[in-house]
Amino acid sequence: MNVGSITGWIFDMDGTLTVPIHDFVVIRRELAMPADRDDILGWLDSLSEDERQQKDEILKRIELDLARQSKPQPFIHELLEQLQNRGCHLGVITRNNLLNTKVTLKAAGLDSFFDIESIRTRECAPAKPDPEAVFQLLNLWGTEANQTVICGDYKHDLNAGINGGIHTIYFNSRNDEQWKVLADLTIESWDELLRIL
Ligand SMILES: [Mg+2]
Repeated sequence: MNVGSITGWIFDMDGTLTVPIHDFVVIRRELAMPADRDDILGWLDSLSEDERQQKDEILKRIELDLARQSKPQPFIHELLEQLQNRGCHLGVITRNNLLNTKVTLKAAGLDSFFDIESIRTRECAPAKPDPEAVFQLLNLWGTEANQTVICGDYKHDLNAGINGGIHTIYFNSRNDEQWKVLADLTIESWDELLRIL
């Protein structure tokens, strides 16, 4: 992948555009989620309708609270500005919901970079690693798969890119080696990408 030739840039939000404050330990405890389950949304879907709705309300409240405290990752503002100046398409695919996503991007000062149509939340498509939201953005933008990349800090982001046939960048902010194999490029910070653009 030649990052300079990429015209469609898709970002995960939590932990990628913003500093991770999703405290999964707290979320799991407040939802009383079993220790043997590792996918919150998948677990919620497996519950009875009443229980799912009740847990969903708790999850929404926790996530909105976290969204209001969002901070941008170092150098992400500069990176998005440079990509925007080059005329690249910028989008977000998040497993979060639309309300939280809007609150998060605004709190982090990044809302002006993304058109509302280029923000794909869990209301728009099945959650990552399903590639449906990737296909939606490719259609919306009219970009080729080989000119499009998804950047994320978690395996679901990278697998959504692989399943959608686009390039993948692993934002390895925690210096965790485990998902490098899923990525065309691994970076430790956004200024590292700025330097090679
Ligand atoms: Mg993330």
